Amino acid sequence: MEQLFRNIKLLTNGKYTLPYCNCLLIEDEVNCLVDSSPPEEELIHLKGKTIDMIINSHGHSDHCSRNYAFPEAHVLLHPEEHERVESGEAYLHAYGFNHFPDNPLRPFYLEGVQYHSRAADGILSDGQVLSTGKIEFEVVHLPGHSIGHCGFLFPKEGFIFTADIHPEMKPFYAMVDSDVDDFILSIEKLLQLQPDILVAGHGNAVITKNISSKLAAYRDELFLREEKILKLLKAGKHTIEEIAAEAICFDGKFPEPRSIFFLHECIMDWKHLQRLERLGKVVCEDDKYYLVPGT
Ligand SMILES: [Zn+2]
Repeated sequence: MEQLFRNIKLLTNGKYTLPYCNCLLIEDEVNCLVDSSPPEEELIHLKGKTIDMIINSHGHSDHCSRNYAFPEAHVLLHPEEHERVESGEAYLHAYGFNHFPDNPLRPFYLEGVQYHSRAADGILSDGQVLSTGKIEFEVVHLPGHSIGHCGFLFPKEGFIFTADIHPEMKPFYAMVDSDVDDFILSIEKLLQLQPDILVAGHGNAVITKNISSKLAAYRDELFLREEKILKLLKAGKHTIEEIAAEAICFDGKFPEPRSIFFLHECIMDWKHLQRLERLGKVVCEDDKYYLVPGT
């Protein structure tokens, strides 16, 4: 735990461990938790505390798995993320298990990510201002990672919480509603905001140095991956599975469990192929992708 600002604690262990994330605990007239899946050892800071409001950056289990543990809290989440926190089936669908149905770990996935169904009570929308009393913050819609992914801007304290946009990690967008163009625009939006302090949802949370150059490199990783996909198409790989086998989003080697990361790679490569189709560089025929001549 780190006292980030007056009234604002950061619940973190400084490591990237799933299914956990860095959370903010705002202790104010209204006690508010920003994301609810802190590392186990940080739960002690929530013990016996009344949480009046939970704000989720998005509906992934590593950001909202403990919503269920605070039945008294008013849970707010972007409307595009509501279905997946209510229904395990919707959650599996969002992660692409219905598009790539042969995954052997499907029956174990929800338990593995500590999924707990808990309906949201209200919505978040871009530009919405929330107050807990002394602390005010603004919702910044940052889609791409998932369609309703949001960050939270704390203007008085001078920081933005960016959840799963982490400029010291690699971009991840393995949902059927992820979108590479949205992801690029969200990173551009953060670049324009020029925050002095960026607080990310995993690993090393508080970033104060070289934020713009780190964000630009993070964005450029998306273009690098796209170049690699174009090369694979040129080399005769035409199906998503053939392209995904190269693990370009995981530096050539899938972490364990392999079948889950292979699924994530399939979805991310598919998202790039959709963008390349929109750009007129690729066409799709019978689930096979081909370069447009001249590309
Ligand atoms: Zn996420």
